[in-house]
Amino acid sequence: MHCLLCQGSIKPKEIFLDIIFLKNSGHLICPSCWQSFERIGPDHCPSCFKNQCKGKCSDCLYWEKKGIAVCHKALFIYNQAMKEYFSRYKFQGDYLLRKVFASELKACLSRYKYYSIVPVPLGQERYEKRKFNQVEGLLEAANIDYINLLSRSDSVQQSSRSKKERLHKNLGFKLKKYRKYPDNILIVDDIYTTGATLQSLKKLLYENGIKNVKTFSLAR
Ligand SMILES: [Zn+2]
Ligand SMILES: [Zn+2]
Repeated sequence: MHCLLCQGSIKPKEIFLDIIFLKNSGHLICPSCWQSFERIGPDHCPSCFKNQCKGKCSDCLYWEKKGIAVCHKALFIYNQAMKEYFSRYKFQGDYLLRKVFASELKACLSRYKYYSIVPVPLGQERYEKRKFNQVEGLLEAANIDYINLLSRSDSVQQSSRSKKERLHKNLGFKLKKYRKYPDNILIVDDIYTTGATLQSLKKLLYENGIKNVKTFSLAR
């Protein structure tokens, strides 16, 4: 077997140990690639899981001032290895890589028992370019059911707008018509940076009468 990330071969003994310690998602990557991903440590922002934060981080304080209470969970630090992973998965379209975090995601998201999982959508233009939604790919690889409650119209690239502007324009997101919206929703994204995307989505869902909204991302 070969590692999906570095192409190095994976020895059967390593696969065995990984299964015993549940360390590596489905032994698709080698131990040294797996170790390059860093889990968020015990000292993190209690609201958004930003690593190495004592108390609430400045991003969360910013959202609180806007009247949005952050309730986010993330698993990994967005370090160099994670950056490279996402650049290959998303931008080079290496769709096999959706499986790398499958068992991590399954274990974590199955704790949100009474929540409906809703992935962050891509705009049409990006979807056509990439041919897949990277968040749906991660969820499907982990065999996690989700509902596509949100749509996104193409708009100016996110990064070219200020944080304030992004919050107010809702980033072009819309809630689709649905027979009955679930009471509890967990919005899932790949990466959480300032929280602009997820917090504006949360606001949109609350405005539409959804009772409980939490957010989750693989990396923070
Ligand atoms: Zn490797
Ligand atoms: Zn925070």
